Amino acid sequence: MTATPPLFQFDNTYARELPGFYVAWEGAKVPSPALVVFNEDLSEELGLNANALQTAEGVAVFAGLQSPDGASPLAQVYAGHQFGGFSPQLGDGRALLLGEVIDRHGKRRDIQLKGSGPTPFSRGGDGKAVLGPVLREYIMGEAMHALRIPSTRALAAVTTGETIYREGPKPGAVLTRVASSHLRVGTFQFFAARGDTEKVRQLADYAIARHDPDLSDAEDGYLKLFVRVMERQANLIAQWVLVGFVHGVMNTDNTTISGETIDYGPCAFIDTYDPAAVFSSIDHQGRYAFGRQPSIAQWNLARLAETILALINPDDLDKAVERVSDELARFPELYKSAWLDGMRAKLGLTGRDDGDEQLAEALLTQLFQHKIDYTLFFRRLSGAATGAREPVTQLFAEQDGISAWLSKWTERLEKDSRSTEETAEAMNAVNPVYIPRNHKVEEALVAAEDGDLAPTEKLLEVLGSPFEEKPGLAEFANPAPSEFGPYRTFCGT
Ligand code: AMP
Ligand code: MG
Repeated sequence: MTATPPLFQFDNTYARELPGFYVAWEGAKVPSPALVVFNEDLSEELGLNANALQTAEGVAVFAGLQSPDGASPLAQVYAGHQFGGFSPQLGDGRALLLGEVIDRHGKRRDIQLKGSGPTPFSRGGDGKAVLGPVLREYIMGEAMHALRIPSTRALAAVTTGETIYREGPKPGAVLTRVASSHLRVGTFQFFAARGDTEKVRQLADYAIARHDPDLSDAEDGYLKLFVRVMERQANLIAQWVLVGFVHGVMNTDNTTISGETIDYGPCAFIDTYDPAAVFSSIDHQGRYAFGRQPSIAQWNLARLAETILALINPDDLDKAVERVSDELARFPELYKSAWLDGMRAKLGLTGRDDGDEQLAEALLTQLFQHKIDYTLFFRRLSGAATGAREPVTQLFAEQDGISAWLSKWTERLEKDSRSTEETAEAMNAVNPVYIPRNHKVEEALVAAEDGDLAPTEKLLEVLGSPFEEKPGLAEFANPAPSEFGPYRTFCGT
C-alpha cells in the first residue's frame, strides 16, 4: 500500500511559537460539504495538489469537517477598535487558522477557514458564514490581487449543507482564505491592553521574523518594524484610493501588519468620483468614507504605536512617544507620495513636475463636479493621449472644464519624451477596464444563491485580467444602469 501524500505540507510557526495567543479548536460538524469554487492558480502557486483538494477528502477539509494531516487548527485572539470604540476581546469568532505552508516563491502563507463554526471568541455569534458574503470576499480579494493590490486571497469556497438564518434562510458556506499572515493591529492591542509587555514583545519578534527578517538584529528594531508597517499601509491605502476602493470597515482588527487588504465585508468600488462615498449600511457617520481612508489608516497606526512604546524605550516612555510620533507624522507625506506616483502613472506622466499634483487635483474636481465614472474616465483617457478626445468629453454634459483640463494635460505630456502611443499603452497597463462593478457582483451572488454559478465564474474570469480589454465584455466595463440605484452593502456576516 502506498501512503497518499498529505494535502498540505504544514509548518505551523504560530501554533508552535505563540502559545497563549490562541485557543486550539476544531471546525463544526456540518452535514454535507460541496465544492462551489476552487482556485487552481493559487493552488499551483502554493504548491498544492489541486486534484486531491477537489476530492471529497479535500472538500471536507475546506468545510472544517475534517482536520487535515499536519494542521494545528486554532482560533487567534485579538482585540480592536471598532468604529472608534475599543473592544478588548475579539478574536476569531468564526474562523480557524489551519496552519502555514511555504509557497513556490518560498513565502510563508496562512491557510484559514472562515465560517467554520463557533469558537470561544464568538461572543454570541453563530460562527458561521453564508454563501453570498463568502463569494463576495472571494471575488473582491481575487479582483484586488489581479489589480496588483496586496490582498488576502481565496483558495476555495464550499457550502456546508446547513441552512443559516440571516435576513431569511441562507446556504451555509466556508471560505478558505490565504494570507501572508493574520497578524493585525488588534493582535498587538489584545496584549497591550492587558499590560502584558512580554507578550507584545514576543508578538513583535514574531512579526519581524515573519515580515521583516532583515530587522531581526537591527538597532531600534521595534521602531523600525512600526515604520515598515506604516510604509506598507501608506502604500496600500494609496492603491485603494487610486483604484476607487472603499474598504468600509477599517477597524484596527482589520488592519494587517503585512500590509495586505483583509476582511472584505461591506466594501465596494466607487462609480462616480466622490470622496464622501460610503456604501456600508452600518457606517452612519461616514467614518470609513472613501476619502477618509488615509487619515483612518494613520489613526489605526497610532493605536499600533501605543502598543509598542515599552519596547521602543523601556525606561523612558515619553521619549518613546516622541520618537514614534515623529515617525507617524510622516504618514501623510508617505501616503501622498505613493498616491501621486500612482496618479502620475494613471495620467501617463513620466518624470516629476511641480504642477503634477495640482493637475491631478484639478481633474478630480472636474470628475466630482460632473459626477463622472472614475474607472471609465481613466480608461478612456489613454485614447485622448493619442488624440481621441471625444470618448472622454462625451462623458461630460458640460464640456468646457474638461476640455481646458485636457489641454493642460496634453501640454504636460509633451514635456515627457515618450511617443503618444507609448503613453497610451502605459496608461492602459495601470488603468483597469474591469473592476468588480457593484451591480455585476450582486447579479453573480443572487444567481449563486439560486444554484447558478455561471455568472460568478464568468465574473472571476473577467476580473482576473482587468487591464486587457476584450470583445463582448462591455457589460462588465460599464457603470450600473441608473435603475440599479444607490448601492448599500451589509456587513459580511
Ligand atoms: P468583522 O467585522 O467581520 O471583521 O468581524 C469582527 C469580529 O466579529 C471578529 O472577531 C469576528 O470573528 C466576529 N464575527 C463576525 N461574524 C461572526 C459570526 N457570525 N459569529 C461569530 N463571530 C463573528
Ligand atoms: Mg475582521
